[in-house]
Amino acid sequence: MDLAKRRGFIWGPSPNIYQGGVSGFYDWGPLGKLLKNKVESLIRKGFSEQSFWEVECPVIMPRAVWEASGHLEGFVDLIAKCHKCDSVYRSDTLIKEQLPKLNIEGFSFDQLREILEKKKIKCPKCKNELTIAEPYNLMMQTTIGLNQEAYLRPETATTTYLLFPEYFRFFRTKLPFGVFQIGKAFRNEISPRQGVFRTREFTQAEAQLFILKENFNNFEKYEEFKLEKLPLMKEKSKNIKLITLDQAIKNKIIKTKSYGYLIALAYKIVKDLGFSEKDIRIRQHSKEELAHYAEDAWDIDVKTKNFGWFEICGIHNRKDYDLKRHEEFSKQNFKVQEEIPTILEIAFGLERPTYCLLENAFVTDKVRDWLNFPVGMAPIDIAIFPLVKVDKELVKISKELFHKLDKEFICIYDENGSIGRRYRRMDEIGTTLCITIDGQTLKDNTATIREISTMKQIRVNVNDMADITRKILNNEIKFEKAGELI
Ligand SMILES: [Zn+2]
Repeated sequence: MDLAKRRGFIWGPSPNIYQGGVSGFYDWGPLGKLLKNKVESLIRKGFSEQSFWEVECPVIMPRAVWEASGHLEGFVDLIAKCHKCDSVYRSDTLIKEQLPKLNIEGFSFDQLREILEKKKIKCPKCKNELTIAEPYNLMMQTTIGLNQEAYLRPETATTTYLLFPEYFRFFRTKLPFGVFQIGKAFRNEISPRQGVFRTREFTQAEAQLFILKENFNNFEKYEEFKLEKLPLMKEKSKNIKLITLDQAIKNKIIKTKSYGYLIALAYKIVKDLGFSEKDIRIRQHSKEELAHYAEDAWDIDVKTKNFGWFEICGIHNRKDYDLKRHEEFSKQNFKVQEEIPTILEIAFGLERPTYCLLENAFVTDKVRDWLNFPVGMAPIDIAIFPLVKVDKELVKISKELFHKLDKEFICIYDENGSIGRRYRRMDEIGTTLCITIDGQTLKDNTATIREISTMKQIRVNVNDMADITRKILNNEIKFEKAGELI
């Protein structure tokens, strides 16, 4: 977090100038925002390529929506307060911290309360008694107009489901169909302490497939993914098993082809974000972890260098729970051929994969501190330098090249300081390629490109620059093969 702050990736807690900010809120600085944008556009591309259509819904919804969705009643944490110092704790976190050997996964509020009392768990700060734990709703409340009770959405998904009748007409009454939404969601977490891993405001990218039972296993797109090898970790298993989607279906590890397809699609997107295969696992929820409406759920976790495994995506089979509830509460008819459709869902958060990419990128070696992003994922793709700024001709060519490349890539122009210092500045923020316009350029119209990980340089013609950098950044050619190595 310290490095992320200093280099302009993540700032906060926000608003920092007022009492040091409020925990659970962060600002994405210029480089962090560029990185997060790349994560967002790759996820958007992953969904769109598979014919999911993007929608955008309001962030604020009236009480009726959250009554129907079950959030008003069920989206709660059990909290305990300290009499003396007024600290507030999540009961489950408190128990996990003080009794790490106890497995409380899936415990009811009554069971958690019993442990708090029996084990006489005290306030970690002042060692005083805690009050009896009570449920606390995690949704942020607001008011529409003068007095209409409303809440900020705790997930994008619910707002997406509500449009089912409109989709049904838009997709010409044919199921299955897919939609997705990328946007903000809010959760009033109790004392969030895990930096950008648990925030009160965050961005989600969630895709839904609306499907009827007859298509659970009669699903065309399955064929495209069935030979994909997946690193699966079955419920309660400690081992990752690398098997094809097709084997997983045949062995009934994954129950239906349509749901298996979504798991494989989510996995493909995570790989496209640049996480290496050995750092990804797909983990099934145990019965205790499963939400009451869920038929099955798998998480995709990625491994970070310093903090181990982190969940960045969930794939859920929500059955007909959501549409059934909204049909009942809104008194509309959502049935298609006498059947309420099932929703299968991929849920990404954007902050976590962005942070994991940043954290995995950090490298310290003998020569330098630098950021080693997967090719194409660096916040800035290309830096363009004139070797010396006193030479007006070099500056002119550099600026022309900058304006040309900047149309297609994220570019930066820098003419200040020695060339060595400029390279170092770019290493610190992970810029993949540095192009230098020098005296030789005036003679034969060639310039150097330096690649960050090897620090090697090649010479290529300035006219070919856009084409060559594109191929390198898209992983189509190896850097060393792209020009004359010098
Ligand atoms: Zn206390």
